[in-house]
Amino acid sequence: MRVKLLPSSYDVEGHVLPVQRLTSYVLDNLLAVDAGSLALGLSEFQRQHLRDIVVTHAHIDHVATLPILIDELFCSLKEPIRIHATGEVVELLERDIFNGMSYPRFSKLCNNFGPVMRYCPLPLGKPLSIAHLTITAVAVNHPVPTVGLSVADQHSTLVFGSDSAETDDIWALANQSPNLKAVLVEASYPNELEALAQRSGHLTPALLKAELKKLHTKDVQILAVGLKPSYRETIMEELSMLGDARISVMDPGKEYVF
Ligand SMILES: [Zn+2]
Ligand SMILES: [Zn+2]
Repeated sequence: MRVKLLPSSYDVEGHVLPVQRLTSYVLDNLLAVDAGSLALGLSEFQRQHLRDIVVTHAHIDHVATLPILIDELFCSLKEPIRIHATGEVVELLERDIFNGMSYPRFSKLCNNFGPVMRYCPLPLGKPLSIAHLTITAVAVNHPVPTVGLSVADQHSTLVFGSDSAETDDIWALANQSPNLKAVLVEASYPNELEALAQRSGHLTPALLKAELKKLHTKDVQILAVGLKPSYRETIMEELSMLGDARISVMDPGKEYVF
């Protein structure tokens, strides 16, 4: 399986910077997990072929360019963009984003070929097939309704923790996953901001270390994501001080193959 964290920061010459401001992943060119920078970071091939998007939660850094992408593709879509999300997440997207005020209610609109966007229920704890991938979602611990996911193909399973403070179900899901190759897990705040991390439903490197004790599969890459740009250097230092060789910070724009 191929997975890329789409870039969301560039220097003045347009080169990708490692700083992550928004969250969206592309898997095997056909599935996205979240849509923070999706409209900005897709290749032309992906723009033409990617039609399935899992939305883990409705926070802006995870959905910012979802309306922009659908707007851009509006006339050319020959099949709808399918938004895979729990009912609670769909409710928030409809209330706050696709509400006819902030942006059009695309779920009710058609182009010459038919509907342009469709919601597909994402069940909790039950596998769902999207193309050759099997997705299983579980609730995680964040101030708004949020899911983490496992995504499996024939050979590998990846786990996406999304945004979450201490939680159990995602680690249970990881432990049950055959061929688990990597866990993408957040490390949003430095250790000194643990209180803020807990209030806002996030992890620090120290909290991440405690979470990783719940993971029984040892031979797994841990890719840290979601480092808040202002604290990036400190968080990276604290992650490396954990002395856990499995952990690295995920590189935006790099294709990881599992
Ligand atoms: Zn986030
Ligand atoms: Zn969030």
